[in-house]
Amino acid sequence: MATLEIKDLHVSVRTDDAAKEILRGVNLTVNSGETHAIMGPNGSGKSTLAYAIAGHPKYEVTSGSVLLDGEELLELEVDERARAGLFLAMQYPVEVPGVSMSNFLRTAATAARGEAPQVRHWVKEVKQAMADLDIDPSFAERSVNENFSGGEKKRHEILQLDLLKPKFAVLDETDSGLDVDALRVVSEGVNRYTANKDKGVLLITHYTRILKHITPDFVHVFAGGRVVESGGAELATQLEEEGYVRFTGAKESAA
Ligand code: ADP
Ligand code: MG
Ligand code: MG
Repeated sequence: MATLEIKDLHVSVRTDDAAKEILRGVNLTVNSGETHAIMGPNGSGKSTLAYAIAGHPKYEVTSGSVLLDGEELLELEVDERARAGLFLAMQYPVEVPGVSMSNFLRTAATAARGEAPQVRHWVKEVKQAMADLDIDPSFAERSVNENFSGGEKKRHEILQLDLLKPKFAVLDETDSGLDVDALRVVSEGVNRYTANKDKGVLLITHYTRILKHITPDFVHVFAGGRVVESGGAELATQLEEEGYVRFTGAKESAA
């Protein structure tokens, strides 16, 4: 079993002349075999958590730690974090003209696995994974993320999950910009991944709609840069009915 442990994480974001503290002591433990949903109002710091774990240079960790099986991830370079078994969608460049998806994925798989997959097996693997996600075969020859629609980017994230088989995945707003069919296909992809009992997921979402397809083992409410309440899947249902009002004092609906 593997464990991803976030301990008393404090993160500031750098603006032109100042640093503003966004995360104010996040504690969270994800074991393999578990899906944790992080839900919370806009601006509560959910994406900041994802960026900080990903090692985005704009987000400065001022204290705390993120451990994968006891190893401090925050001391690792971004590619080393991936090799340690963490999936970080954000580490990949937004657009890489001239590099085909199929080459990009093979390079990523080589980094994650420590050896290059055999071309014949690889082509089959990619074909199968793309078929599972209803991705058009022509996608493999397109440049990385060039002119991808929102939905295509999200499918691409799940395609990587499927092919790279990381121990832990942090997925931020995987449901945003997806129509009903794409949401189903993407959710099924996440469910296939978590069917492996040695995989864990941190699913960050503002809305409950993806949780109709993916049943989390734990739900955490994020507000003001920290986890303010944790519970089971029933907590998401409650948030759908009540919104985040209880946590913000402001009127904002979760659904
Ligand atoms: P959420 O994902 O929960 O909506 P974010 O993590 O995106 O929240 O944002 C939390 C707070 O941090 C917001 O007040 C936002 O304006 C601020 N913030 C996040 N990223 C940046 C950034 N790169 N530059 C300036 N402020 C930022
Ligand atoms: Mg936001
Ligand atoms: Mg966000």
